[in-house]
Amino acid sequence: MHLNHPANVAVIGRGYVGLGTAGLLAHIGHTVTGIDIDEEKIAMLRQGHVPIHEPGLDDLLASQVERLTWTTDYSAVRDADVIFICVGTPPGLDGTPDLQYVVSAAASIARHLNSHSQIIVNKSTVPIGTGDYVQRLLEDHTPSFDPSRHFVVSNPEFLREGTALGDSLYPDRIVLGGQPQALDLMTQLYAPLIDQSFTAPTVAPRPEWFTRPAVVKTSLQSAEMIKYAANAFLALKISFANEISGLCERVGADIEEVAAGIGMDQRIGQRFLQAGLGWGGSCFGKDTQGLISAGREHQYDMPILQAAIDVNYRQRRVVIDKLLRHLKTVKGKRVSILGMAFKPNTDDLRDAPTHDLIVQLNRLGASVTAHDPIAMNRAAREWSHLSYTPAATVEEAFERADAIILATEWDEYINLDWNTLLATTRRPLVIDARNIIRRPINAQVEQVGRDAPRGERR
Ligand code: NAD
Repeated sequence: MHLNHPANVAVIGRGYVGLGTAGLLAHIGHTVTGIDIDEEKIAMLRQGHVPIHEPGLDDLLASQVERLTWTTDYSAVRDADVIFICVGTPPGLDGTPDLQYVVSAAASIARHLNSHSQIIVNKSTVPIGTGDYVQRLLEDHTPSFDPSRHFVVSNPEFLREGTALGDSLYPDRIVLGGQPQALDLMTQLYAPLIDQSFTAPTVAPRPEWFTRPAVVKTSLQSAEMIKYAANAFLALKISFANEISGLCERVGADIEEVAAGIGMDQRIGQRFLQAGLGWGGSCFGKDTQGLISAGREHQYDMPILQAAIDVNYRQRRVVIDKLLRHLKTVKGKRVSILGMAFKPNTDDLRDAPTHDLIVQLNRLGASVTAHDPIAMNRAAREWSHLSYTPAATVEEAFERADAIILATEWDEYINLDWNTLLATTRRPLVIDARNIIRRPINAQVEQVGRDAPRGERR
């Protein structure tokens, strides 16, 4: 079978994954229609405004205006050769992923499928078995559904917010699950990316180590499982480093030295061994819970994953304990938090550790000030239930503070003139919950899993 080039692609969902996917596919030459039910966001995109913060995305979408159309009208699906589902799958109350957006998108797609060959690709992170379920939904709702022409494929997404474009252009692997003929068509769709000489320097520099992505072709179920298992393993690695960091503090070892030392073993690797406040964001918490809930459905315990989750959320208390050790009580004290987004270079506040820090500090009666280079406006909308004073500048956050908690490792904070700013505080106390301060500064500094910054070692 043969896929048109350029292909007509519909991308459902204009979140981090949908916008990145739309931009990437347009960049490699396809004609893309982005569909979302959020009229306000579609109106913004039509006017050239990108509704999320992701480095380079504005420029990429602006450079592809000729190939990109934005709409709320699902009838665009009719002309699409490939239809990507990139809607949210937030956790339900018991941790089971809420599939209502996927189901609703699939039902809307079903109303517009044509009688030619079409591939429905799921990029959302979904419980194992969802691909089959989507296929049944399409069969039930599309009178002309023909399994020899309409294919459901799982193509999980591995991008990280903050580096989404580089991750999508130069992936380690492209995972494709489904029937072999559909996977061949998907390989044709991604052909430019798979080419050894592919580079897109105007969007993101090609990493030195990059050769070409492996194409991993599997069953639908295996592809869905690969996504969950990959996220769960990375989450596990972070929690492992955090668990070891707690013991390092008690026995006088330094987690930064320990992590570097174990990470040099190629079987382990350096990445995701960073001790600190733990993971946050829309994926790790949700996907570890999703896997546990899949286990529950099959009467299968997953104690390692549960432990990783417990360790992660314990880290958010560890930071407050460090603060209390110095201040005894925070009642009435001014505690300033640097960083609100769950990680640098994004405005995403989902499951951000800073949220929990503010909740705990509010309970303890502290007067909280918070700053973030990008996420302040979003926090004003999404965290209106929390009590904190937004600091317009970093300087404002330091002024008369009894303690500074560094919660997100933005470059802006790493490069601060710490000593000048600390001179304006009431008490020079820094809880560096990301271990970014490398050299001694004029303050009491608490880090995670180590005594204090001692200079560059790693
Ligand atoms: P998001 O919440 O940022 O965006 C989802 C979008 O889907 C929203 O714009 C929403 O309006 C739209 N939507 C909901 N229902 C719709 C419908 N019926 N029709 C059309 N649009 C609809 O989500 P995201 O962060 O982009 O994540 C999407 C999926 O990708 C999730 O399953 C997530 O787990 C997975 N994922 C996310 C990341 C990440 O870093 N954000 C990375 C890999 C995978």
